Amino acid sequence: MTLLEQIKDAGIVGCGGAGFPTHVKLNCTVEYLIVNAAECEPLLRTDRWLMIHKSREIISAAARISKMIQAEKCFIALKETYREEIEALESAIAETGASVSLYRMRNFYPAGDEQIMVCDVTGRTVPPSGIPLDVGAVVSNLATVYSIYGASMGQPFTSKYLTVTGAVSSPCIIHAPLGTSFSRCLKEAGGSLLNRYHVIAGGPMMGKCYTMEEAEGLTVTKTTSGFILVEDDAPLVQAHEIPLSVSLRRARMCCIQCSFCTQMCPRYLTGHPLKPHMIMRKLAYASSPEEALEDPGVQQAMICSECGLCETYACPMGLQPRQVNIYVKNLLRQKSFCYPKPAKTFQQLEERGCRRVPSKRLAARLGVDQYYDYHIDRCVEAVPDRVQISLRQHIGAPSRPLVSPGDRVTCGQLIGAIPEKALGANIHASIDGTVAQVSQSEIIISAHIQ
Ligand code: SF4
Ligand code: SF4
Repeated sequence: MTLLEQIKDAGIVGCGGAGFPTHVKLNCTVEYLIVNAAECEPLLRTDRWLMIHKSREIISAAARISKMIQAEKCFIALKETYREEIEALESAIAETGASVSLYRMRNFYPAGDEQIMVCDVTGRTVPPSGIPLDVGAVVSNLATVYSIYGASMGQPFTSKYLTVTGAVSSPCIIHAPLGTSFSRCLKEAGGSLLNRYHVIAGGPMMGKCYTMEEAEGLTVTKTTSGFILVEDDAPLVQAHEIPLSVSLRRARMCCIQCSFCTQMCPRYLTGHPLKPHMIMRKLAYASSPEEALEDPGVQQAMICSECGLCETYACPMGLQPRQVNIYVKNLLRQKSFCYPKPAKTFQQLEERGCRRVPSKRLAARLGVDQYYDYHIDRCVEAVPDRVQISLRQHIGAPSRPLVSPGDRVTCGQLIGAIPEKALGANIHASIDGTVAQVSQSEIIISAHIQ
């Protein structure tokens, strides 16, 4: 069986983003393979833990992937401040003799945005609405590469390493079977230090924010990178709670057109024609949102990565250009608008090098800097007695359930298959147990009681 077939069988998807099926992404030949190890979201520590504790597996998998896609150059891109991680990876490279190099990036946000990373490593700008493959590169998240190592050893994707941090008793890395509940993860981290809290699923910049009650329904999926507990009055929680109608009204009334949002926009700095201040202006002065949507300058909202720097860091008026862009994108998608990929090449702007936002300053703006310097090295194995496995953990069609209530399953058994001729990913049982419930969206398994 080829490595690509092993990846498909194991149900590997991109762990760092929306879960694009990896067997589709890696079905190519390219010049550059870049392993994204920057982990640029403040507070997340999972990739750093993996680099220290699973360095040989990561280097070995990177070398195998590189060979499979015939990459001439294979880089692990990480931050220059990751001293211990660099040491571990360099030792693994020396031991294995793999043709893998490290690319040291500065400690800024969003170093882990794949287009920013490609720009840094190759000097090439991915075209607006394009993908790294357009400039001869494939970027794979570090956790994905580690999962590919498992696939190459015949192990399906059944568990995830994630960070549980913030206002918890004992911040840690948790190794959890897919479908483990948030409550179980919180328990493994010693519980909450707060009576009331919000939970960020993912990183504080791009993750989703949940109330304490909503978080009860969260489970670990293939794309879960962490759970962060924060105070109800943390600035990032307040920002999440601003209603869209208020953001739009403020855009009309308070935007002073200073253009700082554009000047600091990472995508604009790579040479893309994205100017959030112009979108704010055109929406403010259009007689209706529909009229504004006809404007090519407003349509550029489609190439916004939603990194959030404009509203968290750049805007002196506390406005929400990102939220406005998301609103515009949704309206344009409803009209089936596709941003045309330009044929010309783009060049990064000269000033890009001096407009980088240090991660720690960003954490302070978000109101989570008290958790920034946590040294997280403890890894806990979660052993849940019940898992709730989503059949929609990836981009594409939901997996087709292959089991029924009452079936006994073993960890690693295929329980959800890719529908015929569809984009998707296989799903496997993450614990030994009995199927308790099956729907079109999830499979619940109860562990065998010993
Ligand atoms: S969220 Fe703001 S800063 Fe980030 S890409 Fe979009 S417009 Fe640029
Ligand atoms: S930074 Fe804020 S005030 Fe300045 S142009 Fe952008 S949205 Fe308007």
